[in-house]
Amino acid sequence: MAEIHTVLGGISPDGLGFCQSHEHLMLRMGPSYRLNHDLLLDSVEKSLSEVLSYREAGGDTLIDAQPGGCGRMPAELREISEASGVNIIAVSGFHKLCYYDKGHWIHGCAPGRLEKLFAGEALEGMFLGLEGECELCRTDMRAGVLKGALEAGPLDGKYRELFGALAGAAAESGAPVMIHTDPGADVLSLAAFLMNRGVPPAKVMFCHLDRAVPELEVHKRLLDLGFFLEFDTIGRFKYHSDERETELFLYHIRSGYAGQLLFSLDTTRARLRAYTPGAVGLDYILRRFIPKLLAAGVSTSDIGRMSHNNVVKFFCG
Ligand SMILES: [Zn+2]
Repeated sequence: MAEIHTVLGGISPDGLGFCQSHEHLMLRMGPSYRLNHDLLLDSVEKSLSEVLSYREAGGDTLIDAQPGGCGRMPAELREISEASGVNIIAVSGFHKLCYYDKGHWIHGCAPGRLEKLFAGEALEGMFLGLEGECELCRTDMRAGVLKGALEAGPLDGKYRELFGALAGAAAESGAPVMIHTDPGADVLSLAAFLMNRGVPPAKVMFCHLDRAVPELEVHKRLLDLGFFLEFDTIGRFKYHSDERETELFLYHIRSGYAGQLLFSLDTTRARLRAYTPGAVGLDYILRRFIPKLLAAGVSTSDIGRMSHNNVVKFFCG
């Protein structure tokens, strides 16, 4: 069976354990911070203490969803993984264009070169810098996932070009794909685009539809095509309550889609206790949300699917 690439090397699917599929552990100071002061996670010590609390609650693996050139900190992720014993999977690819400075290479780089860059990070190793100053320092840490992001509006212009490069890199490397979605993003066109480019739906997770796409028929269309949906509006009360989130999980599980759901917290500085006292913390799903799911009637085997079996399928299926 295929290996899963973490910042400490390949692991077998058995070693994956309990996994939250879309987190942020480290995030360098940059344009994202200037847009939103919660998008800064710059202390190894603080992030490590969150990961240790996750481990203590029963967590084994995390995906850090910050792509290279956009604040990713692979060396620090490795340090945290070594110190905590928690597997950390890093990503290549691209985020929303508002998170890059005007002169950033992502705006001018030809699609063919972007495809090579993304595929190379998954097949050979991630670059350490990628902020423009350090093109030569490729590490031996392979990216485990390729990430893309779609903002409100149609899939055209630069995003179409970027997703073309991402699809090519996915085909070349065999790495699975995760997609950030914003409210108003044309997710169905993106799904068709990826399928046309040969990316199998079973290797793709659409993230945040629990707050970005209220139309449940759109969720169902994607699930029927075979895509994974990753929900992470958990303990995020400015969007909705945990009860509302639990109803959404129950709805999809009762409709027969428990084999295609994933969960996480999509943490920011405001949501990690080590940075913001009183915040929910990385152990919130294990300590607080799973008991709520169980009380609402979700079975332990379905929780096992969302936290482990489905993640294995996403990587190795
Ligand atoms: Zn995220």
